[in-house]
Amino acid sequence: MAPSYRKSQEMFEESQVYIPGGVNSPVRAFKSVGMDPPFIARGNGSRMWDVDGNEYIDYVCSWGPLILGHRHPAVMHAVQRCLERGITYGAPTDLELTLARMVVEALPGVEMVRMVNSGTEATMSALRLARAYTKRNKIVKFEGCYHGHHDSLLIKAGSGALTHGVPTSPGVPENIAGNTINARYNDLPLLEKIMAEVGREVAAIIVEPAAGNMGLVPAAEGFLEGLRKLCNQYGALLIFDEVITGFRLSYGGAQSYYNVTPDLTCLGKIIGGGMPVGAYGGVREIMQMISPAGPVYQAGTLSGNPLAMTAGIATLEQLQQPGVYEELNRKSALLAQGLSQAAKAAGASVWFNRVQSLQCTFFTSQAVTDFASASTSDTKRYAAFFKSMLDQGIYLAPAQFETAFVSLAHTDEDIERTVEASFNAFKAAANI
Ligand SMILES: *Cc1c(COP(=O)(O)O)cnc(C)c1O
Repeated sequence: MAPSYRKSQEMFEESQVYIPGGVNSPVRAFKSVGMDPPFIARGNGSRMWDVDGNEYIDYVCSWGPLILGHRHPAVMHAVQRCLERGITYGAPTDLELTLARMVVEALPGVEMVRMVNSGTEATMSALRLARAYTKRNKIVKFEGCYHGHHDSLLIKAGSGALTHGVPTSPGVPENIAGNTINARYNDLPLLEKIMAEVGREVAAIIVEPAAGNMGLVPAAEGFLEGLRKLCNQYGALLIFDEVITGFRLSYGGAQSYYNVTPDLTCLGKIIGGGMPVGAYGGVREIMQMISPAGPVYQAGTLSGNPLAMTAGIATLEQLQQPGVYEELNRKSALLAQGLSQAAKAAGASVWFNRVQSLQCTFFTSQAVTDFASASTSDTKRYAAFFKSMLDQGIYLAPAQFETAFVSLAHTDEDIERTVEASFNAFKAAANI
């Protein structure tokens, strides 16, 4: 019997009266899978329950932060202890020092770090800093990479903007868009041409070192090294947007995993342990330009707030345990392998990309290496796959161009159940 989503549907209906589209972030509206979203009541470990009582194995994990799963005891206890002392002071605390030290010790490219409240703020501030440091205006980004929703980077952005058919948002001034250049992910020859033309005006190249907002697209061999070389050659800064990959691909982020060190690093998601957070960091010489140490202005009422710092510290402490990443990646490989076999058995034509605990099933038969190839995916088939999975209690990203997140809370049994369910879902997708 198909599950009921009646209460969720009523809540979604009423939410649309008070909240644009009924949601506070577009992808949550389930538009690209043609459904109404379940309203979530609670979570625990690898599971979530909606207001109608349906249970899900959750592979969204709040879009990445919940690498430990829902309600990890260590995070819950730390946050509860923190709450007993107060919520926020707008004054320095030992917690900010602790998390800053942990981030600096973990990431090769970070000698100093500034906490903010979202990944969007982190990339926005990093760009300002890069422009101030280089005294240049232009930014190079890659089509299909998403770095948040501020003007400079909302130029043919991926993710929500992609699936909602607004490749460039109204309201972004043309003169700002004019300073942003879109290059092609994994295409060094094209980038070399661009840099040969305007390289001396480029303040920074910003990149997701594993692109997680057009589905999942791994950086090709030599791509990140090539960016590093071009930045050195033209005096531009290299910015890694590690909002997803930081503490995900390895404890030292993508920069350790790929052994390429950026000048600036943007963080978010995992470092807040589920609380609103962002951070940007880099070499001391550049970071010292930020106010009040230097002239580049950037501030925040709740930046470095005790709850987010506490949840972040507790999460990173868990990730420091030996064997954690091996276990996470083993589970992710198990899932990818199972899905791949199920797809084959069901006769679905799909392409799998995986980097450590990030993965994506593209409904296309061609290799997905950039935005154009990702766009060959059949989103109607993905929608059919998604709906079948949801009805079977498997909560995947409600859009083709998103990543699946495996957490430490997922058990081998969870993965087995997911793979079993996927056979029917792949069939449903193949037969539309
Ligand atoms: C989520 C994300 C952001 C934006 O972070 P918010 O906290 O949602 O503002 C930026 N960059 C990447 C790579 C992301 O995945």
